[in-house]
Amino acid sequence: MKKIIIIGGGFAGLSAAGRLAKSGRSLEVLLFDKRGHSDFLPLLPDSIGRQINLEFLKYNINGLSRKFKFKFMNEEVVSVYLEAKQVVTAASTYIYDYLVVASGSQTNFFGQPNIQDRAYALNSADDIKKIQEALAEDRFDNFVICGGGYTGVEAATNLWLYFKKKGLTKKIVIVERSPGILGPLPEWMKLYAGGNLKGMGIDILVNSSVERIEEGKAVVSGGRLFSKAMVIWVAGVRTADFIQKLSVEKNPQGRIIVDEYLKFGRDCFCCGDTAYFGAKNNFLRMAVQFSIAEGDQAAVNIIRSIRNLPLKKFKPVDLGYIIPMANNRSCGRIFGLNVKGALSTLLHFLMCIYRSTGLRNRMGIIVGLIKQGGAKC
Ligand SMILES: Cc1cc2nc3c(=O)[nH]c(=O)nc-3n(C[C@H](O)[C@H](O)[C@H](O)COP(=O)(O)OP(=O)(O)OC[C@H]3O[C@@H](n4cnc5c(N)ncnc54)[C@H](O)[C@@H]3O)c2cc1C
Repeated sequence: MKKIIIIGGGFAGLSAAGRLAKSGRSLEVLLFDKRGHSDFLPLLPDSIGRQINLEFLKYNINGLSRKFKFKFMNEEVVSVYLEAKQVVTAASTYIYDYLVVASGSQTNFFGQPNIQDRAYALNSADDIKKIQEALAEDRFDNFVICGGGYTGVEAATNLWLYFKKKGLTKKIVIVERSPGILGPLPEWMKLYAGGNLKGMGIDILVNSSVERIEEGKAVVSGGRLFSKAMVIWVAGVRTADFIQKLSVEKNPQGRIIVDEYLKFGRDCFCCGDTAYFGAKNNFLRMAVQFSIAEGDQAAVNIIRSIRNLPLKKFKPVDLGYIIPMANNRSCGRIFGLNVKGALSTLLHFLMCIYRSTGLRNRMGIIVGLIKQGGAKC
């Protein structure tokens, strides 16, 4: 019986496991995840502003293992040896016939221990819990979001919504290293989002970065100081440590460059945020839709390989994206059309409910959204 190891129980890894289970073949599938649960990341910022219960944004991987017929190994992978076909954890070494790397991405503090120890990350439900606890204690006056990508913008607007509901006045500022927020997005979207942030009283500091955090003060380049500051660090991501050690071709974030079949070595596939798929300047962004499709395709190609059939090329379909804003004036591009306003906010939540798993989680999200609603500025 062929043994398949999947590293990571997020969107990509679970999609691969689901497809393998449907194949009808007798396979031994081991899925490794360092945590016992998987998080529904797209709604994490909303759980600050709209206070969606984090319980409904977590999936118990052990529970899913029965549905998808894999063996769940709650262990962190520390090394992979491609030549020997070995996956190593602190507990043991495992041999595979086929490997699927789907370990996602994690916050990149760019080797700055001062910031790593004192800033808040926003990459898991546990990170959000820490932010929610600090907000409940009302210890901070200034909220410095480091990183003006879509997660930074989403976080800032959700903090705004949180304070609006509590009747508190706090300073929220987005600090962005480059000359503008929302990097490669179309100009109209940047203008729309920028106007929106201004309307909420959220400041934007461009060509700037948080240099250090000391005694509760955030020191921004140019010497600007924010006292009693909560710094939320969303300035970049990187891949897992074991990937850094692999001598395969990667992009600067450490994402593994895969071929048209999502392969990167003998019997090795990579999918989700860890995979860098594309050509020239047209690589896929990190997104749920691509993670699920790639996980599925990697599994299809493993099954085809076992059957000695030619592998299938991965042909991604881009349904679009939304930049969610907590004042309900989101914007984005769906099916090739520009969308903005309440409709795009609704589309964001519909996508999240659709992508979520299980009736309990879906109902929890819907009830949370109905109860908490949003706000206009
Ligand atoms: C705040 C936020 C908001 C987002 N909003 C959107 C959105 O609105 N729309 C959208 O399309 N995308 C959004 N994304 C991006 C989207 O969530 C990711 O593209 C998607 O989660 C990637 O799926 P994945 O399976 O590759 O990784 P993940 O979902 O991150 O899963 C990776 C899994 O691997 C495990 N793992 C990591 N390292 C190891 C190891 N060494 N050993 C064992 N297990 C390991 C982790 O514990 C994790 O469970 C958002 C991301 C964030 C952080």
